[in-house]
Amino acid sequence: MKKYLMALDQGTTSSRCVIFDSKGQTIASASKEFTQYFPHEGWVEHDANEIWESQLYCAREALKRAALAPEDIAAIGITNQRETTIVWDKTTGEPICPAIVWQCRRTAAACEALVADGLAETIRQKTGLAVDPYFSATKLQWILDHVEGARRRAERGELLFGTVDCFLIYRLTGGRVHATDPSNAARTMLFNIHDMAWDADLLKLFRIPACMLPEVRPSCGVFGYTDPALLGASIPVAGVAGDQQAALFGQCCFEPGAVKNTYGTGGFLLMNTGDRAVASEHGLLTTVGWQIGDQVTYVLEGSVFVCGAAIQWLRDGLGLLSTAAESEAVALTVPDTGNVYFVPALTGLGTPYWDPYARGTLVGITRATTRAHIVRATLEAMAWQTVDLLEAMKQDAGVTIPALRVDGGASANNLLLQMQSDFSALPILRPACIETTALGAANLAGLAVGVFRDLDEIKENVAVERTFTPALPEAERTARLGDWHRAVERALKWVEG
Ligand code: ADP
Repeated sequence: MKKYLMALDQGTTSSRCVIFDSKGQTIASASKEFTQYFPHEGWVEHDANEIWESQLYCAREALKRAALAPEDIAAIGITNQRETTIVWDKTTGEPICPAIVWQCRRTAAACEALVADGLAETIRQKTGLAVDPYFSATKLQWILDHVEGARRRAERGELLFGTVDCFLIYRLTGGRVHATDPSNAARTMLFNIHDMAWDADLLKLFRIPACMLPEVRPSCGVFGYTDPALLGASIPVAGVAGDQQAALFGQCCFEPGAVKNTYGTGGFLLMNTGDRAVASEHGLLTTVGWQIGDQVTYVLEGSVFVCGAAIQWLRDGLGLLSTAAESEAVALTVPDTGNVYFVPALTGLGTPYWDPYARGTLVGITRATTRAHIVRATLEAMAWQTVDLLEAMKQDAGVTIPALRVDGGASANNLLLQMQSDFSALPILRPACIETTALGAANLAGLAVGVFRDLDEIKENVAVERTFTPALPEAERTARLGDWHRAVERALKWVEG
């Protein structure tokens, strides 16, 4: 029995490959950054060929570092930056233009027009998403409308569309498979998450020819086999999920009500809602977690735009820190923030406020305020923003949340996680393996090819490294949450009017 699983983790700024054994232990990894293009203000592009080359390099390099033969790999799992839109030639496999990245705002006006036309509610009902340039539909529409000959060629069936997972599957299988999974399809704003199919009305609305769309297959299952010329063997590609959903799977959040939060550049809180697509009344997105066989697992998702990025700003913008990790030691030199609150609305606020006009706000400063208070207030803000997401989740899903599983770069910060536990009155569980995104993709692939019997066997591999338990009296917690909200009030709608 082949024992090893390879995860291809294709992120926004770098490609990674991690090889795991069947116990979930990391055997080797490799990563490579690739170029970010900003051709106009608010535009973000990638070169899909560079994404592919960097990903292939990482796969080969990780195999070498693991000292494994390609035949030792039982299956490959793919996880990826979501929503990023690629269109390529069906015959040559060559992209016809740069990939439009999820962060790109070039279709903001198109989205405003959709909202003005009163289409937001219909789109939300069908896709679970808010109308926003973030999602693929308007990006694909833009390519068809602006790249010369694209629409005509697409209508003739000469072009293919895919998100990054889909493009990687296509290249890995030597152009034989054009497919994606529902966790990625659900981010296109073209996919009906209730019917679990491309939505004919939306295709008409966005004028997208159906023939260019990939087949949507379960997240767990063999999509195809790698071209032996690439890695030296024909390996099944057997698990696919978008990065946040893969992290939820990697955290073993298999039961309804299970929640994970990722503290990266931004913050992403996802809750498993089982077979129910829960409509949000508090600014959360409803989306697909994964599909195994016929069984679809839905999730609620909340996003914080600036999470670890606030620490980056203290380091690079203000020069208050020399490294992100130093934030913990500096914050620990004071017992509290001295009643200082920082609302890191540096690019507006996401869930639950959705205010693009909010701006960063520091309140409560006195002559006694020091660098340490501001650093501490920044860590607190990362936790308070997550509390707002948790509250929105609880209200939308109508469940009590037993514990919060955490990952991402800033989850290495013990003080942050203790604050998180205190402010949310929840146990915080940090796993031994913080590569949860890659692990989730590997586990989906392993489940598909029989490395794991079932979800219970996957769970046996996941160990909690440390649990943080709440220690703040409830009255104090509530009072401080109130102060946080007073601070948020002052940040809202700052640049409007
Ligand atoms: P991403 O995958 O979004 O690029 P990572 O998961 O690698 O992000 O996390 C990096 C982010 O976490 C950075 O914004 C950084 O400022 C922050 N960060 C990293 N280590 C720490 C730490 N020990 N304490 C606080 N923040 C940290």
